[in-house]
Amino acid sequence: MPQLPDELHKLKEFHGHLGPFVVMGYLAGRRALADLRARKYFGMTVRVECEPKPPQSCLADGVQLATGCTLGKRNICIEPASDIALQFENTDTGQKLRLTLRPGLEEQTKAWLAELGDEAAALRTYELGSAAFG
Ligand SMILES: [Zn+2]
Repeated sequence: MPQLPDELHKLKEFHGHLGPFVVMGYLAGRRALADLRARKYFGMTVRVECEPKPPQSCLADGVQLATGCTLGKRNICIEPASDIALQFENTDTGQKLRLTLRPGLEEQTKAWLAELGDEAAALRTYELGSAAFG
């Protein structure tokens, strides 16, 4: 088993398992919060565009943990789509950020899953940081 960074331990505790999609959501949320200089929990809305079922929809849980936007507060939603995109808005400034996955990343993570298993594939994805988006 690979050694997991603290952030991934928290993510696993929240989501129940680790995989590339929940990690991608986490990375996207973390980046959006920083780039938009948004207030965590209350200062942002998020729309997650993806297949509305796991594993793709696991993205939404990573976003929730990173941004504090939650289903109960109604500041995150999933919109069914065949291509993954994450749309963030700073509700104080109106500034928006749209993130899409780096071309080929979904296929890459499938190969990592098959070759390495879910936690190691999640760790590889985590190590991409902002390079996961393009
Ligand atoms: Zn999941």
